[in-house]
Amino acid sequence: MRLSRYFLPILRETPKEAEVVSHRLMLRAGMLRQEAAGIYAFLPLGFRVLQKICRIVREEQDRSGAIELLMPTIQSADLWRESGRYDAYGKEMLRITDRHDREMLYGPTNEEMITEIFRAYVKSYKDLPLNLYHIQWKFRDEVRPRFGLMRGREFLMKDAYSFDVDQAGARHSYNKMFVAYLRTFARMGLKSIPMRAESGPIGGNLSHEFIILASTGESEVFCHKDYLDMPVPPADVDFDDVAGLQRIVDQWTSRYAATADMHDVAAFNDIPPDQRVSARGIEVGHIFYFGTKYSAPMKATVATPDGREVPVHSGSYGIGPSRLVAAIIEASHDESGIIWPEPVAPFKVMILNLKRGDAATDGACERLYRDLSAQGVETLYDDRDERPGAKFATADLIGIPWQVLVGPRGLAEGKVEVKHRASGRREPMSVEAALALLAR
Ligand code: ATP
Ligand code: MG
Repeated sequence: MRLSRYFLPILRETPKEAEVVSHRLMLRAGMLRQEAAGIYAFLPLGFRVLQKICRIVREEQDRSGAIELLMPTIQSADLWRESGRYDAYGKEMLRITDRHDREMLYGPTNEEMITEIFRAYVKSYKDLPLNLYHIQWKFRDEVRPRFGLMRGREFLMKDAYSFDVDQAGARHSYNKMFVAYLRTFARMGLKSIPMRAESGPIGGNLSHEFIILASTGESEVFCHKDYLDMPVPPADVDFDDVAGLQRIVDQWTSRYAATADMHDVAAFNDIPPDQRVSARGIEVGHIFYFGTKYSAPMKATVATPDGREVPVHSGSYGIGPSRLVAAIIEASHDESGIIWPEPVAPFKVMILNLKRGDAATDGACERLYRDLSAQGVETLYDDRDERPGAKFATADLIGIPWQVLVGPRGLAEGKVEVKHRASGRREPMSVEAALALLAR
């Protein structure tokens, strides 16, 4: 992509309305525009990051055996009357009336709808386990939408729903999501910590929030230091190995970790002082086993092997991809701007033409741009008519992992300079060497 032809509305001034660094940086980097309180348009750079995040989420859901579908944003009120939640949900639900005076709503979540789909088709234990997910916009009329994408009213969610014939099966389905979540966040360059969460009336310790540590997080969290370097399950983990998955989950739940809501001061104080972590965190995912909470009232039953009809056992599993865009920035930035972890970066490489109109400089930039693009390396070429200082600032602000600085002085010695955004390391090298390094 040539920056001169791209749509990247960089702001020079720091927007006053933005209270947290991720929101400020996203506005300044031209990633995001607020359209109403808690409702945002993703501009091209922001949209690329959102898509990268969704791709990782999708790959890890698929790897665990979950199956993607797509449910609508608009739902009928009658469906929610079946579960009893239409009246219970309160003001967070955006209620809509259509031209025929039918009551509709903009979905804040999809338990009812997925249960309706399930009961229409699935009748037997033989078709289980099943886990269906989608990545779809949600609307929750939050009292205080704030911190940009962190707490929006319209936001993107990956929500998965598992179905099993009994609680033991549901436990394995839960463990699959637990392991998939550990991998998902690690692939985005984040350290996530599963923390015990309120598990509702069913109990069973089957509810965890996945929290990443960040000083601007909304939740106060407490955990054992061991969580900071526990091994993340590898890509070839066997999701059908019931005992193997349980071992991973047991390890990842073996130490103390809780948000303020669930905090047990005495248990925390049993940890040696130098092993205690008391910090702030951002909830990026939440997994939850709720048994027959929806299947019982909505009559979603399956036949068991011994011929009984039982309500199906379910859980739901959420991740917030739009919140993650902000959370990753909170976890990875410096005073000059964003530092994208490579797997979620909007582009991998940015070429900075430091003297437009100089034949050698233009030539080297064009060659780099053409070759990298041809090899499938996502490259942003700053070919604008701007001072080098402005180009350096833009490149650091938008946080592309690799910058290639190309100017006449270096080229006189046959060199360009490759800068690694995260470490700040700069290295002069030939165009060929830069191509070899960056196309890897
Ligand atoms: P919170 O406790 O932060 O209000 P929640 O418990 O209501 O969130 P869930 O219903 O568990 O959220 O939603 C699943 C995921 O969706 C959350 O882990 C989070 O990543 C994301 N999410 C929830 N609410 C919002 C929001 N208002 N804006 C952006 N992302 C959100
Ligand atoms: Mg939650």
